Amino acid sequence: MFNIAIHSPIIKRLNKILNPTNGPSYGCVIALHDDINFLVQPEAFSKLDLWNEFNLGLLECGLETNMTKSKFYLPLTMPNYENALSLIPQGIGINNDGVKLAGSPIGTPEFCFNFWESTLIQEISHAIPLVCTWPNVQAALCLLRLCICTKFNHCLRLTDPTAEYSSKLIDRLHYLVQLGLSYVIDYNTSPDAIIEISDNVWDQSTLPPKKGGLGIPDPKKMHIPAYLATCVASSMSMLRLKEAMRSINDKSDQCIDSQRTEVSLNELLICNLRENTTVQELFSKFKNTYNIQKDSSELIFKKIAMDDKPQAFLYSFVIVDIDSRIRSVWSSEDVTRLDSCCYEGGILITSLPIKKEFSIPSPHLFRERIRMRLGLSIKGCNAGPCLDCNGHVDENGYHLLSVCKIGNERQCTHNAVRDAVVELCRYAGLVTRIEDPNLNKLANIKSKRRTDFVCDNFLPGVPLTFDVAVTDPRQFALIKPQPGKASITKEKSKINKYEKELSKFGALFQPFVLESFGRWGPLSRLIFKELISRAMATSATHSLSLSRPVVAHYWRTKITLAMHRQANLGMYQRIQRRLKSEMNKSNNNSEDIIFQQHKQMAENTTSSQADLSIDGNTTSRSSFLKRTISKTPTDQAENTASSRVLLSSNSQALSTSPSVQISSPTRCKNSVSRHKLI
Ligand SMILES: [Zn+2]
Repeated sequence: MFNIAIHSPIIKRLNKILNPTNGPSYGCVIALHDDINFLVQPEAFSKLDLWNEFNLGLLECGLETNMTKSKFYLPLTMPNYENALSLIPQGIGINNDGVKLAGSPIGTPEFCFNFWESTLIQEISHAIPLVCTWPNVQAALCLLRLCICTKFNHCLRLTDPTAEYSSKLIDRLHYLVQLGLSYVIDYNTSPDAIIEISDNVWDQSTLPPKKGGLGIPDPKKMHIPAYLATCVASSMSMLRLKEAMRSINDKSDQCIDSQRTEVSLNELLICNLRENTTVQELFSKFKNTYNIQKDSSELIFKKIAMDDKPQAFLYSFVIVDIDSRIRSVWSSEDVTRLDSCCYEGGILITSLPIKKEFSIPSPHLFRERIRMRLGLSIKGCNAGPCLDCNGHVDENGYHLLSVCKIGNERQCTHNAVRDAVVELCRYAGLVTRIEDPNLNKLANIKSKRRTDFVCDNFLPGVPLTFDVAVTDPRQFALIKPQPGKASITKEKSKINKYEKELSKFGALFQPFVLESFGRWGPLSRLIFKELISRAMATSATHSLSLSRPVVAHYWRTKITLAMHRQANLGMYQRIQRRLKSEMNKSNNNSEDIIFQQHKQMAENTTSSQADLSIDGNTTSRSSFLKRTISKTPTDQAENTASSRVLLSSNSQALSTSPSVQISSPTRCKNSVSRHKLI
């Protein structure tokens, strides 16, 4: 309302005076919300009586200037400084070093550096230890990515990379972002020593989630794309503004809107970019760094100017560069892991923990998923012989997660995925029956095979049977990396196992395969698409008027997170068993990291960061630790009981926060008990 009120009597009127039809322009007046800014030659005040005209306009609106809040910026380097000083109205403060305009500094390098240092850097330095040590690691990572990292993008856009203070500023930001990431992957990070962020870990983290990364922007690599994109976009705005000012006296009846003024792209290239040496230098540096073809410079400028998201367009070259470098340098084992983290694998990072089915809320558990994604060792998962089978436990959690056959954690993960897919089928209007062996028995009465579930009415008279699997791509780690190999192989083997037999009785067969890092098999994607089409046709979707991408996103996240949640919990249980057993051997003198770590966490949370423990479970966790440490772990019954105590106390405490619930405690015997627990 304020903007509309001041538009004609102040902004338009002053701009008309400043831009006479037959004469030179003295500048312009722009309003950003309730801030009115004069970008004018000092002579305008004496020659055009600008200040009196301004006060007259204010009077018409019933307003007056707050002189204490008003400032003039006159750089000392300005030609005829003394003369300019005498021309501007009296009674308003004068800044020689700089001013703040729309949340950004304009002024000398010292002024700009101090501005960012005292606002942005201070805020982020304060926020990172608070946010990134939050026991709800999933929420902490989301806040780091979506709130803290977007905050410094504003600074990158407005800081000239060639300015002398720029590298100092960007180094500070770079360190702070790495510190944040370090807290996320290791709770015991000390602010003076970030140990685990190797080049490999950092490179992967800076990739977008869909490309296997964590989606954390690298301030150093983001800087030039951000600044160039802003240069192009603001040049466009400046030309529009100039054009609007030129015609302000011609079209007196029309409202001048600089955003709608047509400016040709060529004008942009000719006036603002081709002759701007800083932009040209930065651009050629960018082109050389990322091997962009030499002759396409203007084409890319045009693309940037036309693009809705010019910064993302430029940054895409950086991402391609990081990705190809990683793939040429990394071992086949690491590339296999990265491939498996791509596509649906990114859901682990992008899902916002706003719903219970989208979150891994148990304190600190999510960290194990992130460490596995980045190829780091899992805390408490020390290498050595397996206590359950004859295998060898590796510190990356491969054996404990995907190889060891003892314990039913893997079955639980499989069942969690199956249940999520069944839920989707039912939502899509299919009648489903779980683990019905009848179809298999038709082929062979003695058959003990049974597919996971059957949808009776997939096509009229044609049932569809599903078999779900979770497969670990690390089994193919030593051969040449091939994206999705694990899921493709698993889908094929399932088809070979079931399809022929079932087709004899007119039934269709469909595998549904997820890789341990989240990627889906290609056939699973196809059937998912089909199920979403059916879900779109249901009355429930219609009545909520949901769009297809929203529905697909919901179910894709639900299915993938079901796998992560259960696998995460299973892994935790195995690690606990292993640690207890090791501790038992060494007569309670254990130096095990995870216990030390958990103990420390509990102590830290209760003492210094009491305000952070919104989960409120610190006492229950520390008392659990005391209990388990003093316990004799040979007593299996008590063991299980104590795990139950932990989990139930967790869920009790967690139920105070809105979107949180533990899905399934230890050792569910079968799917029925699991259902009850959920
Ligand atoms: Zn084992």
